[in-house]
Amino acid sequence: MKKHNKYIVISVPIIIIVLLIGVIFGEGIVNRTIGKKVPVLMYHCITEDEDLANSNSLYVTKKKFEEDLKYLRDNGYTAIFAKDMDKPLPKKPVVITFDDGYKDNYIYGYPLLKEYDMKATIFILAYTFDEEMSHKLSWEEAGALARSGFMDIQSHTYDLHYETDDGLFAMEPFPNESDEEYRERLYKDIDIMNERFDKYIGYRPTVFAYPYGKYTKITEEVLKEADYKATFTTEKRIGNSRQGLYLYPRMAVYQKSGLDTILKK
Ligand SMILES: [Zn+2]
Repeated sequence: MKKHNKYIVISVPIIIIVLLIGVIFGEGIVNRTIGKKVPVLMYHCITEDEDLANSNSLYVTKKKFEEDLKYLRDNGYTAIFAKDMDKPLPKKPVVITFDDGYKDNYIYGYPLLKEYDMKATIFILAYTFDEEMSHKLSWEEAGALARSGFMDIQSHTYDLHYETDDGLFAMEPFPNESDEEYRERLYKDIDIMNERFDKYIGYRPTVFAYPYGKYTKITEEVLKEADYKATFTTEKRIGNSRQGLYLYPRMAVYQKSGLDTILKK
């Protein structure tokens, strides 16, 4: 009986140590292989004009964006590119995204990201680049950002980001459009986007943000067939990469949104 007790006295601490090692390293392995909660933040424009930011929901001030980066840094978040969400994840990952491809992302966003050593993904609406709209990035700027290592350029369609006078969204099928014609229209947009990326960016987009958050079963099928590995909606909640990267939720950040509240959702 006494001998038996001795074994228990020796083996219990060993079992505890083994279990502890398992918990510490095991969690790391689990995180790396099957994903975790990854919040995705959505911004559009950055301005120095406080009145504009208070009256137009697309804008946050440069000051607010810097406060957000500070908040992420001070709370232990690591910003990763949307395209890296299927790779081993840091302890507290966050994905910062900008939609539409505004020039102010380059003017105000890029220097701050560099300063705080954070990364962001820009989903560009590419036809506006071809039309050289002054408030949008140029292709040259987009290429420079893509090479900088701080901003990754991805797709928000070439030209399917519109609503018709009848309230129809271009990402959805039009009346009297067959499935085949609809697919054809989506493929055409993807092809021209790939051409532009080949020419100006140096890689092809693999991550897609749905304009107005509108998607269908067919858009998902077509994007998967075209080698997109992640698609983003505008559903306001924190997603978990364990559930896959298609129709991944994304939370808008406004001038008056506190990241502390958003990241606790
Ligand atoms: Zn958009």
